[in-house]
Amino acid sequence: MGAPEGMERCPIMSTYAAPSIRFVEGSGSWLTDREGKRYLDLLSGLAVTSLGHAHPAVAEAVAAQAQRLVHTSNLYATEHAAPVAQTLDRLLGGGGQVFFANSGAEANECAMKLARKWAGHGRYVVVSAYGSFHGRTMATLAATGQPAKHEPFAPMPEGYRHVAWADLAHLESAIDETVAAVIIEPIQGEGGVHPAETEYLAGIRRLCDERNLLMILDEVQTGLGRTGAWFGFQHAGVAPDVVTIAKALGNGVPISACWARAEVAAAFRPGDHGSTFGGNPLCTAAARATLEVMEDEDVPARAARAGALLRGGLSALAGVAEVRGAGLLLAAELDGIDAGPVAADLLAAGVIVNAVTPTALRLAPSLLISDEEIEEATDRIGAVLDAHRAGGD
Ligand code: PLP
Repeated sequence: MGAPEGMERCPIMSTYAAPSIRFVEGSGSWLTDREGKRYLDLLSGLAVTSLGHAHPAVAEAVAAQAQRLVHTSNLYATEHAAPVAQTLDRLLGGGGQVFFANSGAEANECAMKLARKWAGHGRYVVVSAYGSFHGRTMATLAATGQPAKHEPFAPMPEGYRHVAWADLAHLESAIDETVAAVIIEPIQGEGGVHPAETEYLAGIRRLCDERNLLMILDEVQTGLGRTGAWFGFQHAGVAPDVVTIAKALGNGVPISACWARAEVAAAFRPGDHGSTFGGNPLCTAAARATLEVMEDEDVPARAARAGALLRGGLSALAGVAEVRGAGLLLAAELDGIDAGPVAADLLAAGVIVNAVTPTALRLAPSLLISDEEIEEATDRIGAVLDAHRAGGD
């Protein structure tokens, strides 16, 4: 039995639109395709390669570890896991413990399982916001506040409830005796780069305290310097109970983490949760090197500074109505121009961004992007926008 006609060429499932470009190499903010064409990468593989492509310190750590020890399972201790957990705990303010997994969705799964275990039977509902994105596994999809993404896979698992974004009264009305936790992104990333106001996050903290709920912050996209602070919640000065971290942690090597206050983490006992690959020597070597460079370079400060420069450049472009976000997680809302065709033309012109909504471009470049690269980025985006404005698109 062969594949249906026309389907035999690519052995990869069609969960993403067929890609038009094959990249073979990267360095810093630049990618090279197999024809040798270079692209200025303003997306970093969806906010992952925060230190740029092929950062030498991470590459060397991964290569050395690959020759030493790649995997043992979590039945045994290995060299880098505890130091990485210690660094994360310190950057998060201390007093917590970490579980290592492999993706953002798995970090959120861990957080939501932990919430159920912590809350006890009968309290299991996780409340999240419309427009949120928490992952693609069944539980994290259920938590994701985008009904259109649920519809093909209905029925969703029980225990997830959605409320209007930035609406504390709605959140309060959704809390009953079955609720265990609230999960929220400090900036809704996939939903279009919408930052939460300080009062919103502070209000969630207050509600969680009053009703004895866990406040889970999904920092999968915003964590580790991207917004101009180590974590997005630190701009608001709130103290979450649980934080999930993924994308930037291994600078592209898959590793994620769920951090929880020690009293909350104590709800997990041996056998309650696990991951075969989670925190293995190879990915923790990558994370250790990534975090070391991030601290040496003070990436939050760099992201704040470079973000201000990029924001200023984008805001000055004709065709940009508004720039929102924080640090180097930005969206340029276009003024009556479709974002999809602009992103496609930018790609053809050697600039990588993504149309995060039909009217907005998302930019999440390397946190080590240079001023010259930012200038080049805004010039090239401006030229493509000018062409679209002239073309009446
Ligand atoms: N949470 C947030 C805020 C995200 O942005 C993403 C991915 O974009 C996820 C969770 C899911 O992460 P992953 O694709 O690694 O499972």
